[in-house]
Amino acid sequence: MKPIRRSVMHRLIKPADVMEPDLCPELTQAPADPAQDPVSEAARDEGVAGCEDCAGEGVHHPAALRRCLTCGHVACCDSSPLRHATRHFEASGHPVMRSAEPGESWRWCYLHARMG
Ligand SMILES: [Zn+2]
Ligand SMILES: [Zn+2]
Ligand SMILES: [Zn+2]
Repeated sequence: MKPIRRSVMHRLIKPADVMEPDLCPELTQAPADPAQDPVSEAARDEGVAGCEDCAGEGVHHPAALRRCLTCGHVACCDSSPLRHATRHFEASGHPVMRSAEPGESWRWCYLHARMG
């Protein structure tokens, strides 16, 4: 087995126990704590019941929900045929969303296709 230089290994392998967060600027800026997430007006009024865009269009597709961490907009993920969360990013440029599903708190940067 050939020795591999450490700097190369660091790029190739990302052990789970590395404490240094390897986040892009968008994920670094977005709230890390779900309690600090922005809440949209609709979610504040009615709670997170479903995709705000599906509701606006009068359609309903059961799909996992994502919350925009720039404005709090809640929209359906790519398992919905309408993919409103992705369309929200494309329309607004808001780069980071968080899973709005119970028990999930992962974030996703659309710009870098990166979880954090
Ligand atoms: Zn990013
Ligand atoms: Zn939707
Ligand atoms: Zn947004």
